[in-house]
Amino acid sequence: MAGYEEVLGQDSIKEFFRNSIRTGNVPHACILSGEDGMGKRKLAETFARALLCEKGGEEACGECHSCKQTASGSHPDLIFVTHEKPASIGVDDVREQIQDSIVIRPYNGTYKVYIVDEAEKMTVQAQNALLKTIEEPPSYGVILLLTTNLDAFLPTILSRCVQLKCKPVSDAAGKAYLMEHFQVSEARAEVYTAFARGNVGKMVDMATSEEFQNMYDRMVRLLKRIKEMDISELLACIKELKDDSVDIYDCLDFMQLWYRDILMYKVTRDINLMVFKNEHNAINEICEKSGYDGLELILQAIDKARVRLNANVNQDLALELMLLTMKEN
Ligand SMILES: [Zn+2]
Repeated sequence: MAGYEEVLGQDSIKEFFRNSIRTGNVPHACILSGEDGMGKRKLAETFARALLCEKGGEEACGECHSCKQTASGSHPDLIFVTHEKPASIGVDDVREQIQDSIVIRPYNGTYKVYIVDEAEKMTVQAQNALLKTIEEPPSYGVILLLTTNLDAFLPTILSRCVQLKCKPVSDAAGKAYLMEHFQVSEARAEVYTAFARGNVGKMVDMATSEEFQNMYDRMVRLLKRIKEMDISELLACIKELKDDSVDIYDCLDFMQLWYRDILMYKVTRDINLMVFKNEHNAINEICEKSGYDGLELILQAIDKARVRLNANVNQDLALELMLLTMKEN
């Protein structure tokens, strides 16, 4: 049966969950925070399955009746809190699915587990309703709140929950994982891990998404040639990106990595430190043509473009200014 090994990294959270079962010191409320793609849901589900397993081990046995029920999504003591409105979890959702239900004892075992995904969407009223339950939980109640944003919670909620934070995995671990499980070349794996900043879900998305591969190829083509391109070509390029609805922020991140590589190579001359190792020749060439000041200007221009896009300034203009800076420096 699938367990913690499905999530790369996050060892301290796994150990906390295992240990809580081993010692019988299971918290009534936890907040599991981290970006989407870091494994929050899988960690919470694995913990829930272990809590409900009839064998009582640190991890679910996968054999017992309870384990079969949790695997098929039909265990009555594992409740995934849902919400009608996509944008918020309201007070009625919390009352109906948690407050009114948690007073009923578990059907089978020792625990009744509630998983609230996107818990940052709880309204203040919903959080206050939840607070009442968390303040005096029944002995068997375990509530797992999953969130991308801890700032959305009332301090009173935060102080009553065990806080568990997903951490970025190391580049080395991410690289090895991609190469082993997704047959990604080492050079590409290097780019994906640099890009994903320790978020495994994001790495896997990149390795498996055709969209990202297209963006990658397109960006490399553009960045290699940009100094030779004339204005009309640059404008055509912006239009193309827009027409194909490429994620502009991804493009900016990509360009930033690229120019950081050039700058880093200019300073160190060490290929091993490069993210884009397989573009080494192109990077070396650009490096020869560009000065430190120019590269700094380009990196600033990328930051500026990001700020302008965030501020909803004319997108074409923001990108044009940035590409011109890249062309001329
Ligand atoms: Zn079991």
